[in-house]
Amino acid sequence: MIEGRQGENLDLHSRHVNPQFAKVLKTIGFDRVYTRAEGPYLWDQEGEKYLDMLAGYGVFNIGRNHPVVRQAIKDVMDAEPAALVQMEPPLLSGLLAEKLKEKVPSSLDTVYFTNSGTEGVETAIKYAHRATRRPRIVHCDHAFHGLSNGSLSLNGDHHFRDGFDPLLADCSKIPFGDLDALETELSRGDVAAFVLEPIQGKGVFIADNEYLLEARELCTKNGTLFVLDEVQTGFGRTGKLFAMEHSGVEPDILVLSKALSGGFIPVGAVLTRREIYSKVFDNMENCVIHSSTFGQGAFAMAAGLATMHVIEQEGLIENAKKQGDVLLEGLRDLAQKYELIREVRGCGLMIGIEFGRPRSLTLKLGWDLAHKVNEGLFGQAIVMPLLGDHRILTQVAGHGLEVIKLIPPLVLSDSHVNWFLEAFEKVVKRSHRFPGPIWEVTTRLAKHALSRS
Ligand code: PLP
Repeated sequence: MIEGRQGENLDLHSRHVNPQFAKVLKTIGFDRVYTRAEGPYLWDQEGEKYLDMLAGYGVFNIGRNHPVVRQAIKDVMDAEPAALVQMEPPLLSGLLAEKLKEKVPSSLDTVYFTNSGTEGVETAIKYAHRATRRPRIVHCDHAFHGLSNGSLSLNGDHHFRDGFDPLLADCSKIPFGDLDALETELSRGDVAAFVLEPIQGKGVFIADNEYLLEARELCTKNGTLFVLDEVQTGFGRTGKLFAMEHSGVEPDILVLSKALSGGFIPVGAVLTRREIYSKVFDNMENCVIHSSTFGQGAFAMAAGLATMHVIEQEGLIENAKKQGDVLLEGLRDLAQKYELIREVRGCGLMIGIEFGRPRSLTLKLGWDLAHKVNEGLFGQAIVMPLLGDHRILTQVAGHGLEVIKLIPPLVLSDSHVNWFLEAFEKVVKRSHRFPGPIWEVTTRLAKHALSRS
């Protein structure tokens, strides 16, 4: 079936799945047919090789189709496991829980398995309400914790929320990094949890160590649970196994997902303190008061164990730090040379490149024209030739943000970093000519945006 119908992808999606998404892909020239992947590479049906700096939204930390994880999944499949018996404690989830606990502060001693990041955040919200018997949840501006109803209620971008009311009633948004605002909210004494990404995926905004540690302290002082969402920053992404290790901050609840299964199988984990667990699962009758049918699936658990093994064996955490530093340095050099680059920020291999209004007159004219219609199109106009001319897959880091995000597999080598830096410089250099092709693309996108509204 795959061989016979390869190439019908966009058409099938236009007709049956998500026509709007199909339209966007066509508009930005992303309507390609990828047929194979390995490590940091994708190949399309013409045999062209691409460098994947998106990693499936950050699930392929160990690279795509890693042979060790593939073998682990095959082995479990060939063993004809007695999976999802449900009325039993499965071995593999016990082993993965044990392994995860080895890697986090000892206070986080109880593990709940999920099928996704958003389900982990829903779990954290439920735990927080039940453990504290308080109504409110505090979250940050720009936050992204998933798109199911509870996690959407913690979303810091109106673009995702509009029209989906009523969301959870008692959620309050505060500016990211603002301790005074946090204190004001928490001092009301009715906040169950403060939910935070150590590095925000939308925009790549980084919480500094002092903020994290003081936020932790404020939560403790006010009887609020401190929830760290490491769905995206976890499993080596930032040059530590978990981003919380940079500051040593210890959350009450830690939410993990994405890279845990090497990208093969939906999975997530929520780690918490036994005291909190005990308030949720408070008697034998309530032993499955929070649960999910596929939550401890044998293949997901096996993939999780194998992935953690690969991360350790291949030194991927160290590599993320090393290659992340080289990328950051190279990009910061480019920021000195090219006025359209406003800032480069990042940690390990989670990097944001922000563009901003230039100083020189003609470029400023182009920038202002493009931004009259829509914010965020310039970044898109950079992402497009990166793919079209240089075979590098990247993304813009959120609505209305002129930020390109890099979250490549952690297996990146020197040659991949050079491939990216050279291509990026060529594209950015061209964008400093106005009028020029990048600005034409920006205008074309703006026209599409206008015809949409
Ligand atoms: N939390 C963070 C920080 C995320 O980046 C994401 C997804 O991008 C989620 C939660 C939601 O995860 P999922 O898409 O698996 O529901």
